Amino acid sequence: MHQNGFTTTILHSDRQQSVEHGAVHKPMHPSSEFAYDDARELAAVFQGKAGFTYARQGTPTTTALEAKINHMEGGKGTVSFATGMAALAAIFTTLLRRGDHLVSSQYVFGNTNSLLGTLLELGVEITFVDATDSAQVRAAIQPNTRMVFTETIANPGTQVADLAVIGEICREKGLVYVVDNTLTSPWMFRPSVVGASLVMNSLSKYIGGHGNALGGAVTDTGLYDWSGYSNIFDAYRKGAPTSWGLTQIKKKGLRDMGGTLAAEPAHRIAVGAETLALRMAKHCANALALARFLEEHRGVAKVHYPGLASHPQHARAAALFGSRFGGLLGVELADGVDCFDFLNRLRIVLMATHLGDTRSLALPAAHTIYYEMGAERRKQMGIADSLIRVSVGIEDEADLLFDFDQALNGCLQG
Ligand SMILES: *Cc1c(COP(=O)(O)O)cnc(C)c1O
Repeated sequence: MHQNGFTTTILHSDRQQSVEHGAVHKPMHPSSEFAYDDARELAAVFQGKAGFTYARQGTPTTTALEAKINHMEGGKGTVSFATGMAALAAIFTTLLRRGDHLVSSQYVFGNTNSLLGTLLELGVEITFVDATDSAQVRAAIQPNTRMVFTETIANPGTQVADLAVIGEICREKGLVYVVDNTLTSPWMFRPSVVGASLVMNSLSKYIGGHGNALGGAVTDTGLYDWSGYSNIFDAYRKGAPTSWGLTQIKKKGLRDMGGTLAAEPAHRIAVGAETLALRMAKHCANALALARFLEEHRGVAKVHYPGLASHPQHARAAALFGSRFGGLLGVELADGVDCFDFLNRLRIVLMATHLGDTRSLALPAAHTIYYEMGAERRKQMGIADSLIRVSVGIEDEADLLFDFDQALNGCLQG
């Protein structure tokens, strides 16, 4: 039977539910509350029937976006949040309790690293491992281990976790396997393929894609049987056990903590998501061309990009991500090229944090997003003082190469 592809499915997903007045774009629903003609109907929705009550728990607009993300991930259910961090906080704080043990990749997004620090203070034990080496993950597992967490491609070092083998370990040990898919996006990679239980995507990055809305999502792949997971509250032990984890995340994480995605950013993200495949292909092509160009440049000491043959996990990335390597580069400048001088000379590339925007963005990683954690932790994470993080946009390739070339040459001439 013919199956529609990635983009066709996303473009037409809204119309699989009824769309008011035949509107081609799913209408936006900014209403905070939802009224019913029959009080029994209101009670039924509170008691679990599909429907809307108060917008903190979701609206037709967030539900339509969640369906899109769920299609992309091939998931069993998706819950959206105001930001990626709200989504991660909901996963960790609702599924882990004092005395539980988490095995986490040591190469994680800076704010995720900080969030895990909070979790430590709340009494969760955490072992940080080099997740590119699955033997370290296996060795870290203890009797009280409940969860393994990793990103797909780490930022800014672009380390690629041993995702498939970690998935096998989690299945064998009955552990919840949480994968942050933000850097790859579901166009490059579906973590369900390697046995992930839960997938987190920051919608602020490639999925929204235009730097005009923040959002996050948690997708349950349906692969984890929550019936043996003791941290599920009795109230949520109903229906198929594969859905219990996401129900708890939605009730305890979204409803009670309140990091809800509002209708307007949800709508922007949903429109942006329609072109994910087109944008991502261009991000990947530009990043590969720029990485190859910079690797040969005398103003550059080292380029971190999984698409380069010199990258330690190049073969793994090619196998996992279908020879698409993402839009993020780590660039270590040569001795004598000052990172601030270099950045100040760029004309097209914007000096800004964020990634996954259509425009190319660059920043000095050690002095900005990884400043708070201190020199020692930066060293552990492989973040050199001269490291520039580049989020490669969808500009014309020749213009990007020209901009980097003129800025580097300007520094070298001094
Ligand atoms: C940006 C990012 C997050 C957090 O997402 P926000 O939407 O900014 O809160 C989490 N993980 C990774 C890998 C990210 O790049």
